[in-house]
Amino acid sequence: MSGLYSWSRFAGRTLAAASGIEGAPTKLIFVVTKRCHSRCVYCDIWKVKDTPGGLDNELSLDEVRSFARANSFLQWIDFTGGEPTDRPDFVEVIQAFSESCPDLMLVHFPTNGIATKRIRETVATLRQTVRARLVVTVSIDGPPELNDRLRGIRNDFAHAIDSFAAVRREIGVENTYVGMTLHGHTGSCGRTTSQLVEDTFAAINAALAERGEPLIGWGEFHLNIPHFSQHYYGNQSAHADDGFGGPAHRAEIAAAIEATAARAKTGASLAMRGIERIYRSEARRYLATGRTKITCSALLSTSYLSEKGDVYPCTIWDKPLGNIRNTGFALMPLIEAARRDGVRAEVVAGKCPNCWTPCEAYPAIMASPLRSAVALVTG
Ligand code: SF4
Ligand code: SF4
Repeated sequence: MSGLYSWSRFAGRTLAAASGIEGAPTKLIFVVTKRCHSRCVYCDIWKVKDTPGGLDNELSLDEVRSFARANSFLQWIDFTGGEPTDRPDFVEVIQAFSESCPDLMLVHFPTNGIATKRIRETVATLRQTVRARLVVTVSIDGPPELNDRLRGIRNDFAHAIDSFAAVRREIGVENTYVGMTLHGHTGSCGRTTSQLVEDTFAAINAALAERGEPLIGWGEFHLNIPHFSQHYYGNQSAHADDGFGGPAHRAEIAAAIEATAARAKTGASLAMRGIERIYRSEARRYLATGRTKITCSALLSTSYLSEKGDVYPCTIWDKPLGNIRNTGFALMPLIEAARRDGVRAEVVAGKCPNCWTPCEAYPAIMASPLRSAVALVTG
């Protein structure tokens, strides 16, 4: 199938979802493993490998292949972790979907950037063997000293820069981004969130310049709101109160997003810049009110698969819907049952925990073009 056909099919299915037609989801978030060698202060996934039985029972490659064959309608997959490249057969996992999903058009994975050589080899092989557009996000959460402290790894910043440069220039992945999550850590470094964002952007470009690499623009620098989830990050209990470091930090995050929004004029396609603008505009609303004007598309055009085969509406809502090992690896029986049981209706009614993560927000924006336009104008 040609790329153009896949994109037009995606557009058609997205429009159908926007009209409320409950077909098969176009997008899946798939946690390929909870292995991770970072030690981030705000995420407990890295502790899973040290928990007895924590990594037991992860889906085998054969099971992943069965799942890919049983759900060939998928067009956009976020392969996440843990650190996805810590899974030894990560390339084969993506290849399984590339072979079984004829209209697969977008493959994204985030990386902590620690193992530069392995990341470079992984991406080089994927570029040669996978038809879909590849998008890679390297996580950097501050200037070197702060980033390394938050992510718990000495020289993490330097490794992340090396990985970013390897993926973007050596391997030539056009869609390579830096992702910075604005956790409630600014108090510990004495800077406002806006200052911290400026300093991080400057430090990244200084490090790229030192290596003789092209600099990044604001359009390649993504700011994420922190989120909490027990079934995914395992960090809900530690942040049961506000989770954002208090109202003052919420306002700081909103100000930082506002300040960078106006600058993101380069480094991404026009469509992507439009989606980013809406994401940022709604992020400010979400930080102020805990709600957005855009209806989430969980269980409409998106779903979530854990490393052990459990299906959830999304990364955030700790509401297990069943396990694909009990459905012959088919996703739809679980999604259709959840729709019949009113879980999708609860999402529409805002009775889920409510969130605004990019993983869920971007497809929601695409599936709500009219509401997105209104939100942008009135936001
Ligand atoms: S945030 Fe990512 S890199 Fe950090 S511990 Fe969690 S999974 Fe690992
Ligand atoms: S808005 Fe609700 S259903 Fe949608 S991703 Fe967030 S928590 Fe999940």
